[in-house]
Amino acid sequence: MTSTPERTRSAVRPVDFIGVDRLLSEEERQVRDEVREFVDREVIPVAADHWDRAEFPFDLLPGLGELGLMGGSYATDYGCAGWSNVAYGLAIAELARGSGSMSTFLHVQSGLAMAAIHELGSEEQKQRWLPGMAKCEKIGCFGLTEPDAGSDPGSLDTTAVEKDGGYVLNGEKKWIGNASFCDVAVIWARMEDGKLSCFLIEGDNPGFHTEVLPRKASQRAVWQTHITMKGCHVPADARLPGAKGLGSTLTVLTHSRYGVGWDGLGQAMDCYETALAYTKERTQFGSPIASYQLVQQKLVTMVNEISLSQLLSIHMGRLKDAGELDPATVSMFKMNNVAKARTTAALARDVLGGNGILLDYRVMEHMADIEGVYTYEGTNDVNTLIVGQAITGHRAFSYRPPKNPEPNGRAEEIAE
Ligand SMILES: Cc1cc2nc3c(=O)[nH]c(=O)nc-3n(C[C@H](O)[C@H](O)[C@H](O)COP(=O)(O)OP(=O)(O)OC[C@H]3O[C@@H](n4cnc5c(N)ncnc54)[C@H](O)[C@@H]3O)c2cc1C
Repeated sequence: MTSTPERTRSAVRPVDFIGVDRLLSEEERQVRDEVREFVDREVIPVAADHWDRAEFPFDLLPGLGELGLMGGSYATDYGCAGWSNVAYGLAIAELARGSGSMSTFLHVQSGLAMAAIHELGSEEQKQRWLPGMAKCEKIGCFGLTEPDAGSDPGSLDTTAVEKDGGYVLNGEKKWIGNASFCDVAVIWARMEDGKLSCFLIEGDNPGFHTEVLPRKASQRAVWQTHITMKGCHVPADARLPGAKGLGSTLTVLTHSRYGVGWDGLGQAMDCYETALAYTKERTQFGSPIASYQLVQQKLVTMVNEISLSQLLSIHMGRLKDAGELDPATVSMFKMNNVAKARTTAALARDVLGGNGILLDYRVMEHMADIEGVYTYEGTNDVNTLIVGQAITGHRAFSYRPPKNPEPNGRAEEIAE
């Protein structure tokens, strides 16, 4: 009989087929191991159950705050851990290994909300919010997407109008993680001059309403929310001074996409580790299924993709530490690691046979969660278009009708 998922898991060491461990510093290994130990002890035992019940595991927040994951690569001046970006990435991968929902919580809290305040906020805003958010004592959300503005945030409709020495915001946001229990919402809105800006709205603002999106089949243990803002008045100092137009969103997204790339790696690693252990123990036709060529091919595809993603991830972290990680590179990173995680999860689910669809084995949970990750932080298509523009110089986001359609049905090429 094949072992329980618990036995299977503890029998396996972290995947490192090509020896990437030697590329890490002592401190980076230590951060990874501490987070791994926490995830094994606190997160994995409760993750599937919360996912099944679509409940957010609030009990895990103090431990995550204590570990230093939130804003992990930011300076200790703001109560953050001050890790290298590689250490921060390794920590994210470990959390994602345990729960894609919890790593999504992290991307919103740390990658988006804290990053917006850190990169675009005033010194007062940073001092006020970052230390509490680093400890998960204060929760943030980040509202960019709207019902009619997803991949194209430049078309967003939320407005901010100057009034009574502050601003009044009106509009809706969709898909916003953590908003239903947030202390602070980072909200993007259009000013009267047509430019985008960004505001901090406190969760108890009387004009700020949230509704958790029901019936999700991905990311079930973390809540995304529909926000309605009706006459939300905020003081003048609630505006982030560094938010100056659509380009400022990219400053934040470049940071959060970096974290999401590591997320894909962590979920892929867990799927592979589970699959490898399972195939060694599961016997059919008189032998462990790991001894069959077709099964080995799937395992090799997984470990090959994971190894390449590991190298890419560490390189991205080193570039980020050097201040040289540009938006197009990070788009390729997110696109690659999440797409590879999607393939890996599907292969792992396959080699687990019927057990692959049981939540007990966690692979199905990852597979479903990766679908959400594939779409957020720039869909795979949008990140492809960003990289495409970087290498060709042509921006291929918007449709323009062909000039001079020919009678034979062929259209003239459109010049940029
Ligand atoms: C689990 C989850 C959590 C999220 N959390 C947050 C959050 O906390 N805060 C926040 O602001 N947002 C959040 N989002 C929203 C997320 O950023 C958007 O879902 C994403 O940007 C895509 O927008 P959309 O869903 O409206 O899809 P659309 O933009 O409508 O895209 C639909 C399809 O069209 C494709 N497409 C769009 N434009 C082009 C084009 N020019 N060329 C080719 N193909 C194109 C897309 O790739 C996709 O396949 C979250 C989403 C999910 C699923």
